[in-house]
Amino acid sequence: MTMNLDGRKVVVVGLALTGVALAKFLARRGARVVVTDGKPAAALAERMKLLDGLGITWELGGHDVATFTSADLVVLSPGVPDLPEMKAARAAGVEVIAEIELAYRFLVPGTELIAITGTNGKSTTTALAGALCAASGRPSFCGGNLGNMPLIDAVDHPANVPGGLIVAEVAAFMLEHCSSFRPKVGVLTNITEDHLDRFGTMQVYAEMKGRVWAWQGPGDVAIANAADPWVVQQAQHVPGARCWFDSRPGASPDRGAFVSEDRKQLVLRGVPGADAEERYPVDDLVIVGNHNLENAMASYMAARAVGVSVDAVRAGARGYRPLPHRMERVGELRDILFYDDSKGTNVASVAASVRGFPRPLVLIAGGVDKGGTYQPMLEALEGVCKGIVLIGAAAPLIRAACAERGVTWPVIDATDMHDAVARATALCVPGDAVVLSPACASYDMFDNFGHRGRVFRDAVSAVGATRLDLPAGEAAEAR
Ligand code: ADP
Repeated sequence: MTMNLDGRKVVVVGLALTGVALAKFLARRGARVVVTDGKPAAALAERMKLLDGLGITWELGGHDVATFTSADLVVLSPGVPDLPEMKAARAAGVEVIAEIELAYRFLVPGTELIAITGTNGKSTTTALAGALCAASGRPSFCGGNLGNMPLIDAVDHPANVPGGLIVAEVAAFMLEHCSSFRPKVGVLTNITEDHLDRFGTMQVYAEMKGRVWAWQGPGDVAIANAADPWVVQQAQHVPGARCWFDSRPGASPDRGAFVSEDRKQLVLRGVPGADAEERYPVDDLVIVGNHNLENAMASYMAARAVGVSVDAVRAGARGYRPLPHRMERVGELRDILFYDDSKGTNVASVAASVRGFPRPLVLIAGGVDKGGTYQPMLEALEGVCKGIVLIGAAAPLIRAACAERGVTWPVIDATDMHDAVARATALCVPGDAVVLSPACASYDMFDNFGHRGRVFRDAVSAVGATRLDLPAGEAAEAR
């Protein structure tokens, strides 16, 4: 299902990495491309240079409603806010779609698309599923919201052929603006409080995530977290085969995946494309924690459902290494360990990272608040936390949450990341850990979570810690 873009006026909203890729894609297909962004040209000069010579019309530092209403098509980059101009365009009969919807329309029949969404675990599940697909030897693409490969780049990728495998992380923001996006396999990892600043209520947020299955048909596969009530709610009416993953002890869904009683195997049962029952050793994986078993079960089922062999799944799993800024050990000072979990951008992800942590820890948290409660994080910290050091705009809110809970550990304010690491280190003795897992967005103090993590590493060096090696994959962060 492709569209003819030749000579059509197409407006690209948002000039970040995806906007650049979109503008190139559209220009190559003969569209008359207008790129608009709320930021002024001076702030976008480098990105504009990437589009030199393509005949782009620029509308920067704001948007003109007439540009939207006179377009043939408006395409949105991830993360752009809801603009009144989008509404005006729709009212004028102009189609306004997400980048992933446009990309989807250009995938050739017979490619197998795996789309992964959820509040947490998207990137890990996507990268792991991508690794399993790559191990199959079939042409494969892994990207979307993950790393620096937006889904639009899949269109001109060698994987866009019948039998090709395309794995994409998709955000709720993107699904909000889709109208036919139909993955062969749709994965919903979990739905916990996040982005309420944008979506308002959990119900609206959950419905947006549930749209990963909205355009599926019979023969497609929906992979869902059985232990998450919001996911269960969204999975009620999927048209295809529904496969549950359930990491709770004793769980054994008829169709789906669970953890064996001794916690040493992941068991797949009744999954389309797989044998009646298949067992995979947990030891194949270097990623740890219950949440990563969930990510693995979802990835394995997705891979098997698109015909990746058992051997390829196991080989891909064995070769998989964690992504940067996810509980990554980055430094050591007299047996105090430093962990960069800058990707812990919401309360549930911090809770997953620190629950049952094997050392006493001091948490560095704060940044831009997302509008939910901090209590699940404080609950998960009980028994492991020695103190919290606060940074950024949300500091007073987290302090208030600590007071409300009556926590017994010290809660300390810091002026910046260097100050925070110094204060956190001062609270530690050998055998402890300092964990940056902020439970907040980063943009009050940093460009993105990757930048925040790198400043943390610098601060860790500044207190005299030995810096541990960056793992391969540092490039796979962006955003
Ligand atoms: P996302 O792309 O959805 O942000 P990531 O895979 O990058 O997810 O993980 C971000 C953080 O969320 C990790 O550092 C970890 O603490 C937590 N996390 C990862 N997977 C899960 C999961 N399945 N459930 C809950 N938390 C998770």
